[in-house]
Amino acid sequence: MVTEIEELNQRRFKVVCNQINEQGTVVIQKTFTCRYLFLAAGSIGTTELLLRAKYKGKLRRLNDNVGMNWGTNGDSIGIVATKSGQTNPTQGGPAVGGIEDFDNPIAPVVIEQIPFSSLPEGVYATLGQGITLPEGKLTYNPKTNSTDLF
Ligand SMILES: Cc1cc2nc3c(=O)[nH]c(=O)nc-3n(C[C@H](O)[C@H](O)[C@H](O)COP(=O)(O)OP(=O)(O)OC[C@H]3O[C@@H](n4cnc5c(N)ncnc54)[C@H](O)[C@@H]3O)c2cc1C
Repeated sequence: MVTEIEELNQRRFKVVCNQINEQGTVVIQKTFTCRYLFLAAGSIGTTELLLRAKYKGKLRRLNDNVGMNWGTNGDSIGIVATKSGQTNPTQGGPAVGGIEDFDNPIAPVVIEQIPFSSLPEGVYATLGQGITLPEGKLTYNPKTNSTDLF
């Protein structure tokens, strides 16, 4: 697990990481240097590494936009339970039905069926896919050495 990244000079980055076992206990700390550094620790993990490095002055070329405009993917799951409806006791497979409303005045939205095979008779599950505003903000918290989401 990467804990620190640092730009040593215009041609070298340093990466500090913990080798952990299956219980998450740190076995050994390792340091690597590289010419190119690609971050792929996900939206929050990558931002945390960048914000930590920025706070500690280890990536001095970062601007103040790091951590800004964070948003979720806008997914939501809903359940429709009917009292008398017959839904088919053996739901399964990919979704076979969806509703698209791209002209929705609030925001475009897609709702599709989720045919979980474990759902009881009379129950439908749906996945709503909308677009959220990127109103979140991630900041580095030196007390916890991690990021806070606002
Ligand atoms: C329940 C669920 C269902 C989804 N379904 C779909 C779908 O149907 N279709 C679709 O397109 N997308 C789906 N997504 C979204 C999709 O999974 C993500 O958008 C995608 O995985 C993001 O890829 P990523 O490589 O940026 O990050 P991730 O897949 O999150 O990978 C980041 C990796 O970095 C590691 N990491 C984090 N911090 C560090 C660190 N400091 N050091 C080292 N490693 C670190 C993490 O352990 C992780 O392995 C779904 C997501 C979820 C949670």
